[in-house]
Amino acid sequence: MTTVAEEADRKPLMGLTGLSTVQIAAWMESQGEPAYRGKQIAEWIYRKGARSFEEMKNLPVALREQMAMEAEIGCSEVHLKQQASDGTVKCLLKLRDGQIIECVLLPYEDRVSVCLSTQIGCAMGCRFCATAQGGFTRNLTVGEIVDQLLTLQQFSERKITHVVFMGMGEPLLNLENTLTSIERFHEELGIGMRRFTISTVGIVPKILTLAERDLPITLAVSLHAPEDETRRGFMPVSRKWDVPTLLDACRHYFERTGRRVTFEYLLLKEVNDTPDHARDLAALLKGFPCLVNLIPFNYVSTEQGFQRPEVSRVQVFRAILEKTGIQVTQRQERGHDIDAACGQLRGKHLGKPLKLI
Ligand code: SAH
Repeated sequence: MTTVAEEADRKPLMGLTGLSTVQIAAWMESQGEPAYRGKQIAEWIYRKGARSFEEMKNLPVALREQMAMEAEIGCSEVHLKQQASDGTVKCLLKLRDGQIIECVLLPYEDRVSVCLSTQIGCAMGCRFCATAQGGFTRNLTVGEIVDQLLTLQQFSERKITHVVFMGMGEPLLNLENTLTSIERFHEELGIGMRRFTISTVGIVPKILTLAERDLPITLAVSLHAPEDETRRGFMPVSRKWDVPTLLDACRHYFERTGRRVTFEYLLLKEVNDTPDHARDLAALLKGFPCLVNLIPFNYVSTEQGFQRPEVSRVQVFRAILEKTGIQVTQRQERGHDIDAACGQLRGKHLGKPLKLI
């Protein structure tokens, strides 16, 4: 137990996770240590998976002890971990301020993907989304974003190869921290730029800002409807930027970066999944170099009572798109037995106590 006076005396710890090797080396120098010690520490954090200074065996014991008093590695602890029969690992992480976020490890045959959060909660209010129901709390720091991947890497023998920002929150509303995290993953872990996907609800000015950065990352846009009337029924953001304006921004992104845009299309039974919707979508995207990713609704209890379409409805929808030459993929259903859909696990957990496994 610490006394109140001791708590007050305690200096805040320097968070090292999320800093680059150069920044860690500079900080070590500012502490009167040689820069190469910083490089060693960065090596441990990023490439050897260390979660404490104690593990850093090539550092003198005294330095390890001193570091532990002045700095910290990691920004979170695993609050809950669930592993599905298909290998998907979903984690709830508890941050230093007690907030809970979600992240997911998705091992496939040819790659290991992670799905990361960029915000605590979300302000976008999409009516089908579990995260939206809890409202928005705050942006995540670079350290908190980077730490999700480092935590998930502990649960995979294979190296993480792909990163999608499709967890909690709207990445384009935390753009700088999201991009700095990508830079760290690229430079410190060697993940190729083309292996990052940022998914957005469609914040037009931020799509244009991202285009100006001219990075070869994939932009995924949650379109979910071919026209505004339908889209406005469940995505409040569409009142701000209509579908034609959003499409123009996507076209600009493609022209600037040369990267084909992915359009995500969430299928809600009888709301946006009819053959007419498919035909309108095909007409809208005709000639646009893109990929459509169909996502059958993962059940979340909402006032509207959305339903998941049957497989046959999805097949009809898909066939109409493909007939017009649009490339279509369908989100591989994973981790069903562990609530791997957006915000589901956290939502359940905050609502009632869950058993730790
Ligand atoms: N805010 C960003 C990224 C987070 S959501 C965005 O909107 O794109 C990632 C994807 O999951 C989005 O396409 C989102 O619409 C979708 N999604 C949200 N709730 C869902 C649900 N209940 N079932 C299936 N997909 C869902």
